[in-house]
Amino acid sequence: VGGVSRPSLSDHFARALPEMALPWQAEPVAEPQLLVLNEPVAEELGLDAGWLRGPEGVRLLVGDLSGALDGVNTVAQAYAGHQFGHYSPRLGDGRALLLGELVHADGTLRDLHLKGSGRTRFSRGGDGFAAVGPMLREYLISEAMHALGIPTTRSLAVVGTGRAVARESVLPGAVLARVASSHLRVGSFQYARATDDVELLRRLADHAIERHYPGAEGYLGLLESVVAAQASLVARWMLVGFVHGVMNTDNMTISGETIDYGPCAFMESFDPGTVYSSIDHGGRYAFGNQPPIAEWNLARLAEAMLPLFDSDQDKAIELALESLGRFRATYNSHWLAGMRAKLGIPDVPDAPALIDDLLALLHKNHVDYTSFFRNLSAAARGNPEPAREVFLDLAAIDAWLARWRPLTPDADAMDRVNPLYIPRNHLVEEALTSATAGDMDPFHSLLSVITRPYTEDAALTRYATPAPQDFGDYQTFC
Ligand code: AMP
Ligand code: MG
Ligand code: MG
Repeated sequence: VGGVSRPSLSDHFARALPEMALPWQAEPVAEPQLLVLNEPVAEELGLDAGWLRGPEGVRLLVGDLSGALDGVNTVAQAYAGHQFGHYSPRLGDGRALLLGELVHADGTLRDLHLKGSGRTRFSRGGDGFAAVGPMLREYLISEAMHALGIPTTRSLAVVGTGRAVARESVLPGAVLARVASSHLRVGSFQYARATDDVELLRRLADHAIERHYPGAEGYLGLLESVVAAQASLVARWMLVGFVHGVMNTDNMTISGETIDYGPCAFMESFDPGTVYSSIDHGGRYAFGNQPPIAEWNLARLAEAMLPLFDSDQDKAIELALESLGRFRATYNSHWLAGMRAKLGIPDVPDAPALIDDLLALLHKNHVDYTSFFRNLSAAARGNPEPAREVFLDLAAIDAWLARWRPLTPDADAMDRVNPLYIPRNHLVEEALTSATAGDMDPFHSLLSVITRPYTEDAALTRYATPAPQDFGDYQTFC
């Protein structure tokens, strides 16, 4: 039985880039307790869910590979990064470990990675641990994003460690097992560049091309692929109202997957200035800043890659700028197409103005972003009330509806792109608070709703409703 069930992990990253892979082991966990396991994700990775639920499997999920695997080279990855605009040459996995790679059902590799697995040589002042609440938040939000069709790392499991973790208060500890196309980041390239070893930088770029963009034409092609993937990704975030919260260059992937769900949240009433993170004092990572911040991060990637583009650095800069220049047009076309789909309208010349005017109205009237678009399909079917009644300025929304209706929006198509259920902040908090106190039921209920975001169920109205007034201003902590 064991031979069939035990996963076989590879170590392509550690072999290709030993300078960026510090051999390291997880902190032992005396009594690991499985809190949630993602069976579909396990299955896609060829993992036996029954085995994972058993003692050997749960030990694997906290990084104890004894008895499960032989000779696996688990590593902490080195990377650099700009945090809130300030460069740190040496960040790295301070509380995470790469267990290795697995082959996905689609034939490509996936990283199996732990978060909260103990201190490493990159921990600086941190304790290396994670609390149950934030790890379950990452699980919940990443699975919601996946269900919304947005590229993201996936969550395989959260295991309670029984350890007391000191934060604002003492909290129960946990380890998240996550799955990613890779953990290569903009900050990985910044790290390689900072070593002044151009051959390391080249090996990193070759590894990224092989893993993510086998069709890319050279190193400039790699940059262009990342620019395109991130432009598309951030447009999708903007279309669903997702605020990442900490878009440092070490939290931006080369693959184009959303990564590192820390102080993230979904916007309720529409406002480009929306900030949830308790540490984002200047609003650098506010909802509306996400596209220009992505472009800024990509400029840092291009800068790190310069020696690969041309031996003449003036020429290299010229080439990099040309590739970076494509971000805006690519982002705009994805976003505009997505907005037209949300409104159910064809590509008419008036569409951009119609969209801008609507967003201005949503902002001015403090209208809940998600439910407005979902309710608009009723207006397309002849009942404008659910969409219009939430506006203080009824004359203004009526005037807008009078411009939109003649475009004969397709209500069914709108319902396929406008989610009814997102992880509402007050429900996320409720689920995480209960889980921290030992009751996983609200978490499982919420998870089952947000992983079917488009399918209406009259019994689930509570999950489609914005936070009550007394929930107040939401703040997230990472
Ligand atoms: P983040 O922005 O949360 O992805 O983390 C930024 C850096 O801080 C990374 O190098 C993390 O590994 C590190 N870090 C975050 N929390 C901890 C912790 N509790 N202990 C050690 N390192 C941490
Ligand atoms: Mg990070
Ligand atoms: Mg405002």
